Amino acid sequence: MAEYSAFSLLKNALTGNKDWKPAWRKPDPKASYDVIVIGGGGHGLSTAYYLAKEHGITNVAVLEKGWLGSGNVGRNTTAVRSNYLLPQNTRFYEHSMKLWENLSHDLNYNVMFSQRGCLNLAHTPGQLDDYARRGNAMRHLGVDADLMSVDQIKRLVPALDISGSARFPILGGLMQRRAGSARHDAVAWGYARGADRRGVDIIENCEVTGFLRDGGRITGVSTTRGEIRAKKVALAVAGSTGRVMQLAGISHMPIESHVLQAFVSESLKPIIDTILTFGMGHFYISQSDKGGLVYGGDLDGYNSYAQRGSLPIVDEVMSEMLALFPGLARVRMLRSWGGLCDMTMDGSPIITTGPLPGMYLNCGWCYGGFKATPASGWCFAHTIAKDEPHEFNAPFTLDRFYRGLVIDDKGQGATPRLH
Ligand SMILES: Cc1cc2nc3c(=O)[nH]c(=O)nc-3n(C[C@H](O)[C@H](O)[C@H](O)COP(=O)(O)OP(=O)(O)OC[C@H]3O[C@@H](n4cnc5c(N)ncnc54)[C@H](O)[C@@H]3O)c2cc1C
Repeated sequence: MAEYSAFSLLKNALTGNKDWKPAWRKPDPKASYDVIVIGGGGHGLSTAYYLAKEHGITNVAVLEKGWLGSGNVGRNTTAVRSNYLLPQNTRFYEHSMKLWENLSHDLNYNVMFSQRGCLNLAHTPGQLDDYARRGNAMRHLGVDADLMSVDQIKRLVPALDISGSARFPILGGLMQRRAGSARHDAVAWGYARGADRRGVDIIENCEVTGFLRDGGRITGVSTTRGEIRAKKVALAVAGSTGRVMQLAGISHMPIESHVLQAFVSESLKPIIDTILTFGMGHFYISQSDKGGLVYGGDLDGYNSYAQRGSLPIVDEVMSEMLALFPGLARVRMLRSWGGLCDMTMDGSPIITTGPLPGMYLNCGWCYGGFKATPASGWCFAHTIAKDEPHEFNAPFTLDRFYRGLVIDDKGQGATPRLH
């Protein structure tokens, strides 16, 4: 498959754009593979890519029940950051950040990674102290963090209501300047193309409906396109984890599936050149390259497998936006949508061997798994190839909930919908 380059762009432009090839093949499933990855979202595709690239394992199939990008990888609001408090999370997400910083070159695909920063707004002195503590913890591990004053924030985002009479006055904020956003579809397509180029079969419209076993060992899957055998079967189905694990006979997982909604406005001239989070509720906003304001808030608050949300959250998100930006009151919202979030008991992910022989599990991304896409696939590929975790994902076990080794960055306790 041809390299994408300025030269190939020019050549195709001059020859009527007739030479472009599909970015990945559409193969029929083979009878068996070394590794099957269930789920063609960001994490499944990046796992396949790094299995091939880092470990030379290319006899791999990614099985996706719909089309690539139909899950959360194509539904998220694309915030990428590594501004965590706890060292287990910081190390993992900073590894992801470093992979993001070279991803377009690595994939030979422009994922439009734009490091425009992520600013958490503080509205109370206690919150500002808390941000200083988190910023210090980040800097201690070599991650960039700056406390911003009100004046600096005012210069960065003039549209914010920063007056003393604002509904929630702003006292400062924590900025990670290397944070940013990427084009979510491009991430899925770039990983798919990269994996396909190395020989991985990406099989769309192929739903896994059951698991094949030899004694207690998983030896393959039944699908809507027939049975497929594999030495190793890896799950990366995000919000569908509970349902797919049930097919393997495991009905109790430390995960709840919840709906998260997001919104986009009509296109505006550039007014917000960073990702901004509200400190007195759950609201965040950024501006896409097309000019639309992309924003979201809290989970709907009930367990669901429906990829659509309810109206009370729409109301709440809009009121939080107007508390920060009264000037946006007459901007029209264009679209809203929902995605399924696999919420764990401590808000941190699971990347592990098992829990059944022959099975490998990647899940628990809550509403923060887009930023993890590169490191998640990189670590999961290592875990599958070596049959043991890399040090970056070693803390993210499934049994940490039984052993009391939870990684609760927010300190919210075992209430999945609060993470
Ligand atoms: C509205 C919203 C906003 C978000 N914003 C952010 C953000 O700003 N930053 C951030 O870091 N994260 C964000 N997230 C979270 C992030 O999108 C997810 O954590 C991440 O995309 C999950 O991993 P994935 O890409 O592999 O999931 P998915 O894309 O959902 O992939 C899972 C795939 O598995 C497939 N599948 C399921 N069952 C089967 C089966 N039986 N057989 C075959 N295939 C199956 C599904 O069809 C799906 O394509 C957001 C999520 C939502 C919903």
